[in-house]
Amino acid sequence: MGRAPLAVPAWVHHEGETVKHWRKPLDSDKYRPPQGRVHLIPDRCKGCGYCVEFCPKEVLEVSEEFNIKGYHIPRVKPETTCVACMLCERICPDFAIYIERVDDEEGEKAKGKGKKGAKA
Ligand code: SF4
Ligand code: SF4
Repeated sequence: MGRAPLAVPAWVHHEGETVKHWRKPLDSDKYRPPQGRVHLIPDRCKGCGYCVEFCPKEVLEVSEEFNIKGYHIPRVKPETTCVACMLCERICPDFAIYIERVDDEEGEKAKGKGKKGAKA
């Protein structure tokens, strides 16, 4: 039996297609968007897939890995960039995922004031 369909907000659909990221500001070359590092607490996850489904940058995917409860946990896809929108953190029903802002950290490093941080 498959997973029940998720309630998808109207704005993610356009002419029957799912639209995840369809706008780009004209001055996007001038500003760097924020960046985040995804942290998962695997054994809290219940594999609902909300974070995977609703991430606007399609950063996450369901992995083959099981947690202690027997659920497949999400993981970060290679070659993707989390923009620290915090949506996954806010919608996770089990507080299993959180985001660390790393753009500030990178900025500090660039100024020679870098501090040691967690790895992605
Ligand atoms: S913070 Fe936003 S961009 Fe980053 S993984 Fe979560 S939903 Fe995706
Ligand atoms: S939203 Fe939370 S519980 Fe659901 S798959 Fe993502 S991390 Fe796991």
